[in-house]
Amino acid sequence: MSAPRPVGKNTEAWFAKARELLPGGVSSPVRAFGAVGGTPPVIRSAQGAYVTDVDGNSYLDFVGSWGPLILGHAQPQVVTAISEAARRGTSYGAPSQVEIELAAEVVASYPGLEQVRFVSSGTEAVMSAIRLARGATGRDIIVKFSGCYHGHMDALLVAAGSGLVTFGTPSSAGVPAGYTDLTRVLPLDDEEALNRLFAAEGDQIAAVIIEPVPANNGLLLQRPEFLAALRQITSQHGSLLIFDEVISGFRLGPGGAAEHYGITPDLATFGKVIGGGMPVGAFAGPRAIMEQLAPMGRVYQAGTLSGNPVAMAAGLATLRFLKANDGWQQLEARGQYLEQLLTDSLAHSPVPASLVRLGSIFWIAWYADTPPRTAEAIAKETGPFYAHVFHGLLTRGVALAPSAYEVGFISLAHTHEDIEQLATTLTSVLADLRTPSPSGVN
Ligand SMILES: *Cc1c(COP(=O)(O)O)cnc(C)c1O
Repeated sequence: MSAPRPVGKNTEAWFAKARELLPGGVSSPVRAFGAVGGTPPVIRSAQGAYVTDVDGNSYLDFVGSWGPLILGHAQPQVVTAISEAARRGTSYGAPSQVEIELAAEVVASYPGLEQVRFVSSGTEAVMSAIRLARGATGRDIIVKFSGCYHGHMDALLVAAGSGLVTFGTPSSAGVPAGYTDLTRVLPLDDEEALNRLFAAEGDQIAAVIIEPVPANNGLLLQRPEFLAALRQITSQHGSLLIFDEVISGFRLGPGGAAEHYGITPDLATFGKVIGGGMPVGAFAGPRAIMEQLAPMGRVYQAGTLSGNPVAMAAGLATLRFLKANDGWQQLEARGQYLEQLLTDSLAHSPVPASLVRLGSIFWIAWYADTPPRTAEAIAKETGPFYAHVFHGLLTRGVALAPSAYEVGFISLAHTHEDIEQLATTLTSVLADLRTPSPSGVN
């Protein structure tokens, strides 16, 4: 059975200390294993496709630091870029060559962009893009979708109201109701709800923000027609369309989901891959909108470490490596291989399961014969079942994310053999779960 693996002595000791000093023992909540139980490995080092804990146990890693590490851990060119940049100084508080070079890569890669502002996280990118959208349109209302995550800015920490009510209510303590009054929440995959909202409030909507590839609540791939409807209705009403490409940007391809679907947003937000494992976010758009930012315009936005030269160097090295080595085609080929092998593995599952994949992003929808397209369509039994799968894999040295709702990532460090190892391990975990046992899910 898939009981949590025995926790190593050092991990046990370090995580006990962590719990004393850091709330929940972590610096970001999902890392705490709250959704699957057990103690997270405390990591000592990482290399290629593997992470190693403080007891010396190595795990084949499909988390990839939750998305950034598209080349794998400690990729040599990225490490060299970082150390060379650090030797030239870690922060200048002034324009630098490397941020201009990275901005040029972003603008050349992604449709419709002319200017970029760099920040230090995805959250900051979204927060600033929302302020810019409001400043540029002179309107206040922001529309988001249930099942999309955009970081932790107050106005977007909202849950959908019940039924047809689209008013957001805060989903976190510490967010005053007044901060979410101007946020509307819609279901994904639903043109009717979208049309209804625009009919009622279209002239007050500053922006619609969406993960064009929703990948923070399962992988809820959207119908292209739905994304096209968003483009059309926002243009009609003079609202901006913001693609939050913090996961999909530079992961699906140089032009992210915009290129994949052939739909150009008004603003795009980036994070994760764009920083090559360092803290970087960015938001970008046409000059006419971007120049409303200070110092050109009246929308204030700033950052002491924004455009940090060490972080910029890591991002630039990552994008250049992907471009020079057919990175995205390679990832697609590995993604296809993973899809084929995991689909076979899932035939051994005691419950119906569907593999969902786009490029190097994958997710397994449990209790599902077909991939869900909305948050509401994900089966409620998913969490407890996944906890067994997760610990079964981890015990055997394979790390997926510690939550049923998080996606997996393939990097260029994952070989065909690594993908085969994931598949054979998953098959044996699922075969074990099929065997009725007192502690099993059957
Ligand atoms: C991770 C993520 C964010 C937040 O980025 P942070 O760097 O964690 O602040 C925002 N939007 C999406 C789509 C994300 O996946």
